[in-house]
Amino acid sequence: MSSKILIIYTGGTIGMIEDAETGHLTNVDFNHIYDHVPELKRLDIQLDTISFLNPIDSSEINTNHWDQLATMIQENYNSYDGFVVLHGSDTMAYTSSALSFMFDGLRKPIILTGSQLPIGIIRTDGKENLITAIEIAAKKKEDGSPLIQEVAVYFDYQLFRGNRCSKDSAEHFEAFRSPNFPPLASAGVNIKFDTNLFYQSQKNELSIHHNLNRKVALLKLFPGINFELYKSIFDKSKVDGVVIETFGSGNAPSSEEFKVILENYISAGGVVLNITQCNSGKVKQGLYKTSSMFNKVGVISGFDLTTEAAVTKMMVVLEGHNGKEAEKLMQLNLRGELSN
Ligand code: ASP
Repeated sequence: MSSKILIIYTGGTIGMIEDAETGHLTNVDFNHIYDHVPELKRLDIQLDTISFLNPIDSSEINTNHWDQLATMIQENYNSYDGFVVLHGSDTMAYTSSALSFMFDGLRKPIILTGSQLPIGIIRTDGKENLITAIEIAAKKKEDGSPLIQEVAVYFDYQLFRGNRCSKDSAEHFEAFRSPNFPPLASAGVNIKFDTNLFYQSQKNELSIHHNLNRKVALLKLFPGINFELYKSIFDKSKVDGVVIETFGSGNAPSSEEFKVILENYISAGGVVLNITQCNSGKVKQGLYKTSSMFNKVGVISGFDLTTEAAVTKMMVVLEGHNGKEAEKLMQLNLRGELSN
């Protein structure tokens, strides 16, 4: 039996065509997707499409949109074999990370894709991205269950784990990278899957974390940083958790002021997670003197989490968990997002 896939259009470049009269880019009506991508008719896959009422540039994405997207998938979960989410590439890695943590017990693929050039432009990368993302979402195992059972991003011939990749280029078709985890699949003449890498939930029941905690902050360190300016972030009555992007393997300038800020915040119940600004590799707190202070004050290691995964994981974990329990969950590998 052929697979049934639901395409959800949220907005972004992929869904745009040039208005013949004005030359302006406007959104495609995805109900007429076959007019724009007739090649889809040749796939032996049943396709339905739904769209956000008002498709958005992905810079506008917020936690309400993630909730809306999760609800759309939840409402259609039993009627489809898989989901392809069309999304602007700018914040796609945040959305794919957020969805990966919001869905627990996922048994079907949620594949996000987009493009650097609109689908209505001759040199578009959108057609290949769309067609192959659909093919991947439709793939089944011998027992008839979906091959991919996690949230992933398909872009420029590669399939990445959704909570392991980041947007890397504002102009190349090869726009995403996943330096700490290999691609789940590569598309050439054939699509080659690395099935050993697939994430498989141990749970049988699907449950969705609809509420995300927005009292989360992100601080990127830089040489010469004036910690005084950032004091207001470390206020437990306003902020439940802070992700700090540090240098190298998790290092920071030695500053008594910063140490006291962190100590007070953590003893008031705040969670502070240390991730690296480097594109690859992981945090090793205590390897250098410049990171041992973090261990003393109770900052926890984010290992090799991407910024997108760290922020969205915190948003999910800090809703309903706090203190030591939250810290423990933040350091556990919940959806294949970290290597510790
Ligand atoms: N600004 C666009 C967006 O992220 C770019 C794209 O679609 O790739 O929505």
